[in-house]
Amino acid sequence: MQSQIVCHRCRRVLAYPSGAPSVCCAMCRAITAVPPPAPAVEMAQLICGGCRTLLMYTRNADTVRCSCCSTVNLVRPVNNIAHVNCGRCRTTLMYPHGAPSVKCAICDYITNITNTGVS
Ligand SMILES: [Zn+2]
Ligand SMILES: [Zn+2]
Ligand SMILES: [Zn+2]
Repeated sequence: MQSQIVCHRCRRVLAYPSGAPSVCCAMCRAITAVPPPAPAVEMAQLICGGCRTLLMYTRNADTVRCSCCSTVNLVRPVNNIAHVNCGRCRTTLMYPHGAPSVKCAICDYITNITNTGVS
């Protein structure tokens, strides 16, 4: 499959095989870097650092602005996601290990993380 990109120097439209990391222009020899392909949009979850609301965001976002308190949260890979059931509505909530509490996105109840069972 072929893709197209515009040479950053001479503005010529270049065809290149899909998946190539860069394209060398046949006219001016400039190397144009190919932007990484946009991954399929995946949703991820993040706990707001300001109000602890569970926020949804697209995985390729760098920051997430909280709709409740307007805190801008930096997105960083969270490897240790734990689950807890909301103390009021029993919705399964996700939170990063070590968080003292999780605020439910559904009912706003704040569930304290007490017995994680992790030694
Ligand atoms: Zn060129
Ligand atoms: Zn917030
Ligand atoms: Zn709840």
